[in-house]
Amino acid sequence: MTVTFLDWQARAAALTPETRMFIDGKFVEAASGAKFETLNPATGEVIAAVARGGAEDVDRAVTAARRAFRSGVWSRMAPSDRMAVMRRFADLIEEHAEDFALLDTLDMGKPISDMFNIDIPGSLMTIRFFAETIDKMDGVVTATNADALHYILRQPLGVCGLVVPWNYPLMMAAWKLAPALSCGNSVVLKPAEQSPLSALLLARLFSEAGGPDGVFNVVTGLGEETGKPLALHMDVDKIGFTGSGEVGKLMLIYAGQSNMKRVTTECGGKSPQIVLADCEDLAKAATTGVAGIFGNQGEVCSAGSRILVERAIYDDYVALFTEAAKTMHQPGNPLDPDTTMGPLVTPEQQSRVLSYIDIGKKEGAQLAFGGGVPASLNAGCYVEPTLFTGVSNKMRIAQEEIFGPVASIIPVDNLDHAIETANDTIYGLAAAIWTSNVKSAHRFARDIEAGIVWVNAYEAGDATTPWGGFKQSGNGRDKCLEALTQYTQTKSVWIEMS
Ligand code: NAD
Repeated sequence: MTVTFLDWQARAAALTPETRMFIDGKFVEAASGAKFETLNPATGEVIAAVARGGAEDVDRAVTAARRAFRSGVWSRMAPSDRMAVMRRFADLIEEHAEDFALLDTLDMGKPISDMFNIDIPGSLMTIRFFAETIDKMDGVVTATNADALHYILRQPLGVCGLVVPWNYPLMMAAWKLAPALSCGNSVVLKPAEQSPLSALLLARLFSEAGGPDGVFNVVTGLGEETGKPLALHMDVDKIGFTGSGEVGKLMLIYAGQSNMKRVTTECGGKSPQIVLADCEDLAKAATTGVAGIFGNQGEVCSAGSRILVERAIYDDYVALFTEAAKTMHQPGNPLDPDTTMGPLVTPEQQSRVLSYIDIGKKEGAQLAFGGGVPASLNAGCYVEPTLFTGVSNKMRIAQEEIFGPVASIIPVDNLDHAIETANDTIYGLAAAIWTSNVKSAHRFARDIEAGIVWVNAYEAGDATTPWGGFKQSGNGRDKCLEALTQYTQTKSVWIEMS
């Protein structure tokens, strides 16, 4: 049965989400009793008051996680049993797909149809992928002398703090939880304060799937009050972080100030999409370019925010891009299944994006379309899809992560100039090229400073494809088998036989 806009509005009005933290298998209030409000950015209304965790709550969660880890209840559970729990966990998430869709759409404003097309399938795929690895991980026997046996065990790290952002609340949590839990770690998940609700449902479902108490804990609260004590905690073995570069750097500092815990970071980007004159299908390059920057309101780490177009096709590309943007992503109420673009996550994010639009105008870029708040939607945090043309790569709008629906088109002379311009950034998350020349494609793939590269595509991938950056886009790799190495450590075992 199709759920209509009216149905979703009725469900939203009747929603009573869980608002307490999840520690040691139970929902609990913050030790201080404090709460913070989470708002619906489409209306400005308060959705719920959520437990506002502090250092004491973090410590309770870490203590429970450590106890569970040492007990072996999860870390030494038979692999086939752990796999069965992870699979049931994924099945339960699928059964609750509508609840997750409603929670994340209300909390952060993404179109509800994106939840069904992107976030939920992406989360399920990742959890099922890592569940499959559980009984396939093995160690190594090395080639030592005959009078010794030496083997290398691969073991979980212990307690992993997972600190995630608000732009894909469920999916970013799943990308971290899936490898961490599959490897046998205990986790303390800290969702973003803008979007804490779906993490609490996740924790309940892990428990219902048979996940033992203390293995999966959720602490809700503000970054400074909850995330910081988690990252500074002396008994946390690893922080898996996704978020801004600014906070990513703090995570590395916190690790140095505490116990040298491992830190993997997945941070921001200013990802280039290069379009060469020999592109076979310019219309497809334009529609993919539009989706690459305006999808999820532009609040995407890999948003293709810098579009570098060879001069010979510059005007044609701008015209096609402008035409496509009119129909593909227009702001509307995110609970309406036909909506393709929701509000930005908070009034602060809306102001930040609008201030970058002002900066672009002052820097001399040409505002081709958008740039304002849609008149009929001024109760929410909406910003129109916006395009600047004639942008120079030195401008702030081309160098800084805006994290909103603002595209910059930059003319380039040729492939060399395009690669040089594309690499002229502190970031290195994703990059794409549109070309029919195989040599240009391979040159680009070799020379671009980015962790994720697409040729004649954008945002394509699945659970097998590593997700992570070069340079200040971070040092971790989510999804993919490589993630398993980031949630395990090796142990060298020498057995003297002589
Ligand atoms: P953010 O860095 O502000 O917050 C991320 C998380 O860190 C939140 O849970 C927050 O509460 C916590 N935090 C904030 N300050 C903290 C502190 N001092 N100590 C400990 N924890 C703290 O990022 P955001 O605004 O939530 O998300 C947007 C950013 O995330 C963008 O830069 C985006 O590019 C990035 N991102 C990257 C990826 C990726 O895979 N590379 C994916 C999604 C988002």
